Amino acid sequence: MTGQPGASRNVVVLGGGLAGVACAQRLGDEGVGVTLVDRNDYHQFQPLLYQVATAQLPAEDIARPHRVIFRDHPTVEVRTAHVTDLDVADLGVTLADGEKITGSHLVIAAGAQPEYFGVPGAAEHAFPLYSVADAERLRIHVQDVLRAVSEGQLDENALDIVVVGGGPTGVEITGALTELMTALATMERIPASGKIFLIDRGSRLLGAFSDRSHKYAYDRLSEQGAEPRLDTGVASVHADRVELEDGTAIPTRTVIWGGGESAAPVVQAAAGLKTGRGGRVDVLPDLTVAGLPGVYAVGDAANIPARHGATLPQLGSVAQQSGEWSAGNILRERSGQPTKPFHYKDKGIMAMIGRNAAVAEVGKHRHQVDGPLAFAAWLGVHAMLLSGVHSKVDAFMSWAWDYFERDHAAIVEWSARPKRIVWGDEPADAPHISAGRKTSGDSPPAAGDS
Ligand SMILES: Cc1cc2nc3c(=O)[nH]c(=O)nc-3n(C[C@H](O)[C@H](O)[C@H](O)COP(=O)(O)OP(=O)(O)OC[C@H]3O[C@@H](n4cnc5c(N)ncnc54)[C@H](O)[C@@H]3O)c2cc1C
Repeated sequence: MTGQPGASRNVVVLGGGLAGVACAQRLGDEGVGVTLVDRNDYHQFQPLLYQVATAQLPAEDIARPHRVIFRDHPTVEVRTAHVTDLDVADLGVTLADGEKITGSHLVIAAGAQPEYFGVPGAAEHAFPLYSVADAERLRIHVQDVLRAVSEGQLDENALDIVVVGGGPTGVEITGALTELMTALATMERIPASGKIFLIDRGSRLLGAFSDRSHKYAYDRLSEQGAEPRLDTGVASVHADRVELEDGTAIPTRTVIWGGGESAAPVVQAAAGLKTGRGGRVDVLPDLTVAGLPGVYAVGDAANIPARHGATLPQLGSVAQQSGEWSAGNILRERSGQPTKPFHYKDKGIMAMIGRNAAVAEVGKHRHQVDGPLAFAAWLGVHAMLLSGVHSKVDAFMSWAWDYFERDHAAIVEWSARPKRIVWGDEPADAPHISAGRKTSGDSPPAAGDS
């Protein structure tokens, strides 16, 4: 804190996800004033959304109120509000009620939204899996279908589900759904387990991984009863079916969209902000935006340069590290030092395929592991991500080991409360979550929606 121009003004951070929280925490640690704006009053941990959607965890277990996260950071002010515009020249944001907030710097950490690539009917009929509200809507829908089938109001074909996208999101939700449906059918809660189709236009599952992982994911999902269909895209989505580019159709009431993402609408619509691939902000190596002094973009909202002209993937560890790095550079600017290029510490890539089945590619040489070792790697990386937002990470570790070791068929209780991570939080610390209406657009949502 320094006497540099603007040093007495708050840093404005748009977005309280992994990137925005890491940035605000680092600045708050140094006593810098921060105004963090998010439409939700809570942070959501996306890697566990599929567990909420499949009723394995209650929604409140993967969401944490921002005011609790910043309880020990008195210089961080949290504003729960929908941002309608970015004012990049003024280093600020405009809220839905017209209020403008400007600061010494603007950090754009607004994350992403599902990208439907113009597929007709996808936005209307498919269920995205990007927020806690999305996961809740999907859980409620699947639960309604299961109940209607078990009571004879729908025939058992209604149990068939189509998952679009063979990346980690699609693979994880497919794995969890096949386990759930098989367990329910085994216990005769539903007449059959239904079919879970996993559609991808590419010829491999988990495209960013190695050939060994592609095969492992394909084999494991097939053994669990899923039907991967590769080399064909989705042509259109309807209330009662999905039409594929190969001319076939799959009757279904449930289409889950894990087909891609692009930057949050407010980022793509911002005047004066040049966006690139995926509508994300192209940033310089130090995470600033060319020609816009004081503006940073981080996490899923940014195209962050990597080696050989590539950009870093949209991952939790990239978001967290880039958020923290932007704070470091703001601190440097405030003390009159030059900024430094972002250095990403790559922890590897990993995906959960089901209980006892995960793949991980770790270390510099992308060493491939699967099964319990991969699960341990997944656990370590996700515990580290969670530690930024939750002080009781040991509760997550013991829940996760327990989850890994249990026999799923024995524990599924569809209508009962799902098993909790025993965080031991105060009841007053619960976030305000509601499934609300289906939206990932940029109109101001109902309180608690995302
Ligand atoms: C289903 C799923 C599973 C994933 N699994 C993994 C995994 O296993 N491992 C991994 O490393 N990564 C995983 N990821 C990716 C990882 O979660 C993201 O890369 C990371 O969370 C991005 O963080 P962020 O802070 O950039 O964005 P986000 O976490 O999306 O945060 C953006 C914030 O901005 C707020 N916001 C946006 N627009 C506005 C507005 N107009 N007004 C107010 N607030 C706004 C949002 O409410 C949100 O809180 C997964 C992602 C998904 C969707």
